[in-house]
Amino acid sequence: MTLRLSNAELNRLAAERAWTFEARYGRLGAEAALRLAIRDLFPGRIALVSSFGAESAVLLDMVARIDPATPVIFLDTGKHFGETLHYRDTLATRLGLTDLRRVTPAPIDLAHEDADGLLFARDPDRCCALRKTLPLKDALSGFEAWITGRKAFQAATRAGLPLFESDGPRIKINPLRHWRPAWLAEHFARHDLPSHPLEAEGYRSIGCYSCTARSAPEADPRSGRWPGLAKTECGIHREARPSESRSLGIQ
Ligand code: SF4
Repeated sequence: MTLRLSNAELNRLAAERAWTFEARYGRLGAEAALRLAIRDLFPGRIALVSSFGAESAVLLDMVARIDPATPVIFLDTGKHFGETLHYRDTLATRLGLTDLRRVTPAPIDLAHEDADGLLFARDPDRCCALRKTLPLKDALSGFEAWITGRKAFQAATRAGLPLFESDGPRIKINPLRHWRPAWLAEHFARHDLPSHPLEAEGYRSIGCYSCTARSAPEADPRSGRWPGLAKTECGIHREARPSESRSLGIQ
């Protein structure tokens, strides 16, 4: 007899596993944590989600050194800077990544709710749901865990990040949670990694062109995202609400 667990039970089990992993491995450094996660804890069942933004090359480089066949999910919202798309392809080739997955919004969602492409101005939370949260939820089905590049220094809202946390029924891993800007710069230099071309123009956190501005050197790097709005996150770092899952039929 096959035992079917409810979503609430799956979420509770993931939370317990994350807590256990955090207690056991929470003090590991970035590369050791990645090796553990990719090779031992979730072999073949883990993906890296990357925006190919200003600092993304560090985590991509580490993952490529451990296993270049690790799936790398890129949420192609249709609103990225051309420079980001070019950087993505350059970096993937340079690092030898062999499983880059470009994930796009559902055409039916865009046709119904964002036919003019201006939903970001009317309802940015809904735009992020259609262009990021729901496509990611679909892309992560089949994976037990995913890796993010979030760092505590990026914004006050990211202080206190753990190494392991649960995200619905999955485990989410934040290997760079304690990294400082100087460490990232040192990794770029030591491994001769190319910078995102927009960094030289003052962009320090790079997302969709319609919601990204330059940020002052003394400000939170993410202050250039959704400038003028209280919004600070796109929503992929929380579970999609049931109401957001209507069009894709995700339960
Ligand atoms: S960052 Fe802006 S354009 Fe991109 S998905 Fe979110 S609201 Fe839409």
